[in-house]
Amino acid sequence: MGKITGFIEFHRAKQAYRPVAERVRDWKQVMRPFSVPELKQQGARCMDCGIPFCHQGCPLGNLIPDWNDLVYRDLWQEAIDRLHATNNFPDFTGTLCPAPCEGACVLGINDDPVTIKAIELAINDRAFQEGWVKPEPPKVLTGKKIAVVGSGPAGLAGAQQLRRAGHEVTVLERDDRIGGLLRYGIPEFKMEKKVLDRRLQQLKTEGVIFKANAHVGVNLPVAELRKNFDAILLAGGACAPRDLPVPGRELKGVYFAMEYLTQSNRRSEGDTIPAAYEINAQGKHVVIIGGGDTGADCLGTAHRQGAKSVHQLEIMPRPPEQRADNNPWPQYPFVYRVTSAHEEGGERVYSVSTKRFIGDAKGRVTALELVKVEAAFENGRATFKEIPHSSFTLSADLILLAMGFVGPEKAGMLEQLGVKLTERGNVWRDENWMTNVPGVFTAGDMQRGQSLIVWAIAEARSAARGIDKYLMGTSDLPAPL
Ligand SMILES: Cc1cc2nc3c(=O)[nH]c(=O)nc-3n(C[C@H](O)[C@H](O)[C@H](O)COP(=O)(O)OP(=O)(O)OC[C@H]3O[C@@H](n4cnc5c(N)ncnc54)[C@H](O)[C@@H]3O)c2cc1C
Ligand code: SF4
Repeated sequence: MGKITGFIEFHRAKQAYRPVAERVRDWKQVMRPFSVPELKQQGARCMDCGIPFCHQGCPLGNLIPDWNDLVYRDLWQEAIDRLHATNNFPDFTGTLCPAPCEGACVLGINDDPVTIKAIELAINDRAFQEGWVKPEPPKVLTGKKIAVVGSGPAGLAGAQQLRRAGHEVTVLERDDRIGGLLRYGIPEFKMEKKVLDRRLQQLKTEGVIFKANAHVGVNLPVAELRKNFDAILLAGGACAPRDLPVPGRELKGVYFAMEYLTQSNRRSEGDTIPAAYEINAQGKHVVIIGGGDTGADCLGTAHRQGAKSVHQLEIMPRPPEQRADNNPWPQYPFVYRVTSAHEEGGERVYSVSTKRFIGDAKGRVTALELVKVEAAFENGRATFKEIPHSSFTLSADLILLAMGFVGPEKAGMLEQLGVKLTERGNVWRDENWMTNVPGVFTAGDMQRGQSLIVWAIAEARSAARGIDKYLMGTSDLPAPL
């Protein structure tokens, strides 16, 4: 701990963003970097706690007080080494993580927590600028072959760990480009694709083999995988969307959020979408059903496309400004948040449920009928009661369903492999991250359900260790879980 009184002298600095009027006219990163003196001050706020609760908050077990102090002392290369010791991709988490570590930071008991996430990102960016991030190909090869199915953060982290342990690793991805939700889910303005491409280049140089358009269980039979590889890591995500089967669901103009976001991300990649399939918010009244992060990504995208109006609907009540009594520190704080997309406009409507979609004679959606609801909570589960005579309509010519995901897709690969599922419909695994099928492992959203990048990386690191042990009898790979 470099500065004993840092947390008394300095306040938490607020993340700066580009002005709204400027950023809604492009797709570039909305955040502005902190200056080095600012970051050093922020690092100095860390108290180097005897029991660093930030560790408890971070699924990766990041060595947070260590690199906070190294930044304060201007030792950036040591800081990136410490960061890479537990996290393959601090660029992804430093940019996109909701930072459960900050929710658990001890300073947060009676002050604002340390700006852990901003410090993490700055260390990563400085390391790339200085050329300190180098490929680390294995020195000794084992001759074992591993297939990783899925190229999201779990697949990429698992592949990098296993390659560094000396195995031949092939990443199979059904999409035409590598990256999973980092490529086709998360919009460019939240994380530019060049950040992902930079890491992919590192993995390729380390010797990881990537195969796009390889849909396991569809154009690539599961039997072939079993024959050609010594182990398989299933990291196929959990992208089966939650539907809203109310009258009018079939109307033109009602889409899943991921259909919309994928198209927009394809445009960012330079693809042309055929007019017949185009989903575009330009000049439209847009309604997003679902108040979470996917909904916020649709909101930011709709504004950039030139929507006339955007409403984001949520069935739950508006969260409190401060932690509720049943959500104490060091739990993740469930409080009202204003994301960068919310700062850009649109209206958030809470405690409403959709009764039906209304269309015109040509089968196009024109409005939706809503009703106000009251939530009741029992054993942590919410139930909703309609408020009598509270229904109203809202005009809409584009409706985006962003109500979460119901788990991994079962047809094809999972059914053909015969893997056991949990009660929630995710892939079951044992304490070594192996499924009920010997040699077949799993990590990320496929076994956890739709979650966070930080969990995907953490689980993949643990599953990689499980695979390495299964193949070699022992493993030196570090694992957080
Ligand atoms: C719109 C959106 C925004 C998000 N924003 C954030 C955020 O800001 N911060 C955050 O922490 N988390 C965010 N998340 C969640 C985060 O993206 C996921 O938790 C994370 O990507 C999960 O990683 P994964 O590798 O397990 O799966 P994914 O990223 O879903 O990757 C799985 C990959 O497997 C491929 N695949 C599936 N089946 C097969 C098969 N049979 N053969 C070949 N390939 C297959 C899929 O095509 C996909 O590319 C967001 C999610 C969404 C939907
Ligand atoms: S809990 Fe907060 S103050 Fe304590 S070591 Fe972690 S980051 Fe520093």
